Amino acid sequence: MQSKLNLTNFINGEFVEPLSKAYVNNYNPSTGEVYSYVPDSNAEDVDNAVKAAKKAFPAWRSKTFLERSAILNKIADGIEARLQEFAEAESRDQGKPVQLAKSLDIPRAAYNFRFFAGYILYLEEKTYMTDTPVRALNYTVRSPLGVAGLISPWNLPLYLLTWKIAPAIAFGNTCVCKPSEITSYTAWLLCQVMKDVGVPAGVVNIVFGTGPNAGSALVSHPSVPLVSFTGGTKTGEVITKLAAPLNKKLSLELGGKNPSLVFDDCNLEECVTTSVRSSFNNQGEICLCNSRIYVQSTIYQQFVSKFVEKAKNWKVGDPAAQGTDMGALVSAEHLAKIEYYVNLAREEGGKIELGGKRAVIGEENSPLRNGYFYEPTIITGLSPQSRVMKEEIFGPVVTICPFDTEEQALEYANDNQYGLSSSLWTQNLNRAHNVAARIEAGIVWVNCWMIRDLRTPFGGQKASGVGREGGEFSYDCYTELKTVCIKFYSANVNNINNVKDP
Ligand code: NAD
Repeated sequence: MQSKLNLTNFINGEFVEPLSKAYVNNYNPSTGEVYSYVPDSNAEDVDNAVKAAKKAFPAWRSKTFLERSAILNKIADGIEARLQEFAEAESRDQGKPVQLAKSLDIPRAAYNFRFFAGYILYLEEKTYMTDTPVRALNYTVRSPLGVAGLISPWNLPLYLLTWKIAPAIAFGNTCVCKPSEITSYTAWLLCQVMKDVGVPAGVVNIVFGTGPNAGSALVSHPSVPLVSFTGGTKTGEVITKLAAPLNKKLSLELGGKNPSLVFDDCNLEECVTTSVRSSFNNQGEICLCNSRIYVQSTIYQQFVSKFVEKAKNWKVGDPAAQGTDMGALVSAEHLAKIEYYVNLAREEGGKIELGGKRAVIGEENSPLRNGYFYEPTIITGLSPQSRVMKEEIFGPVVTICPFDTEEQALEYANDNQYGLSSSLWTQNLNRAHNVAARIEAGIVWVNCWMIRDLRTPFGGQKASGVGREGGEFSYDCYTELKTVCIKFYSANVNNINNVKDP
C-alpha cells in the first residue's frame, strides 16, 4: 500500500497546492481504499492556469514545427521510460488490469505525442485560383487559437487526456487540462514528465478538480476560446450551454450504445472471440465497446451458446495479477449503476445468460474482497425498446437480440439516440458496403473492432458528439482557418486597367 499523497496542480511549470485548499478522496477501486487526495480546485486556480497558458502562448506558437515536434517526441520518450510505473498507477486508479494499461493505455498515450510530432512536419494548405474576369490567388492560413481547455473522463484516463494535449500543443496552442477527479493520478505523473523533459513553463497546465468547480470554471473562462471535451452526453449538454454565450469552439466526444450486427454468413468463431473482447475489455468501460449485439435468427442460438462459453473464460480478478482479463469497476457509484441496470433488465423480462452479480475476488480477509468487481454479464430476451437496450450502461453488460432481415438489423441499430461506433460481421462485400453506409455511427468496423488509424476521423453522430478529431480533423479542431485572397493582374499588360470586379 502506497502512502497517501496530496496531488498538486501543475501551473506555469510548477507543482502548486490548490488555492481552494479543498481535496477529494482518490479510491483504489480494487480495494475501496483511499490512497491519495486530489485537489478540488476552484475558479481562482483555473484562472491562474489560464493566465500562465496565455503568457506562454506567443513564444510557443512562434516555435518552428521542428522544435515543437522534438518536444512532443521527448514527452513520448518520458512516458515510455516509465511505462511500468504509469501502467501500475493507471490500474490502481481506474481498476483495469495492469497488463491492459501496459499494452494499450500507456503506449497509446506515448503514441499520441509521437503521432502528432510526425504529423505536423507534413502539413499542407490548399490554394484556389479564382478564374473570373478578376483573377486572384486564394490560399488558406491556419493559426492556433490560444489557450485550449481540455476535459477528459475516467475510463481511459491518460490515453484520452493525451489525445487532446498532443494535437493542441502540436498545432501551437497552449492548454489547461482538467482530468477526471476519479482518475487523476497518471495526469499528475505526466506533469512530472513535462517538467523533466523541459516543456516550456505554461504550455501545459493541469488543474485537478471536480466538474462543477474546476470544469465549469474552465469552460466559462473568457480567455479559453476552445474546449475539447470527452465524457457523458448530459455533461456535454451542460458544457454546450456554458460555452454558447461566449461563442467558443467546441469538440464533444460523448456517450454511446454501440450496436454490433452479426449476419449468418460471418466467420462465427472470429466474430465470437472479438465480440467477447469488444463487450468486456476494460470492464466494458470503453466508449467503443459493443453493448447491443443483434444476431441473424438463423444463427442466433448458436451465437448465444458460443458467446456465453467464451465469456466464461474471461477472467475477472486482481488487476495486478498476470492473466486477469477484467479488473474492478471504476467506483462504488459506477458499480451501483451497473447493479441498477441488471436489476432493471430482470424487471424488463431479460434472461441473465451469464453473470448478473458482483464477483468475489481474493481470499477471505484480502482487501480485494472490498473491490468493485462485477462478472461479465450477458442478457437475452429483452425487447429492442426496453430501457436496458436503449440507455448507456458503460460496464460489463451486453444484450443479445435476434433479427431476421438486413432492413430490420439496420432499424434496430439506428433506433437509438447515440451514434458513436458500430460493428458489422459478414463476408458479403456488397452487404458490408451497403449496411456500413446506412448505419448511423461515427465509425463502422467490418469484421473487426477497435482498429484505430490516428489519421482517420474519430467522433460520434447524434447524442454521441459534435466534431471529429484525428489527423487533419484534429488540425481543423485545434486551429482557426482563414482565407487570404490576392488579386493579381492579367499577363496581358494592355488589359491591366480594364480589369473589373465581377
Ligand atoms: P462525465 O461527463 O461525468 O465527466 C467527464 C469529465 O467532465 C470529467 O473530467 C468531469 O469532472 C468533467 N465535468 C463534469 N461536469 C462538468 C461541468 N459541469 N463542466 C465541466 N466539466 C465537467 O463522464 P465520465 O463519467 O467521466 O465518463 C464516462 C462517459 O464518457 C460515458 O458516457 C462515455 O461514453 C463517455 N466517453 C466518451 C468517449 C468518446 O470518445 N465519445 C470516450 C470515453 C468516454
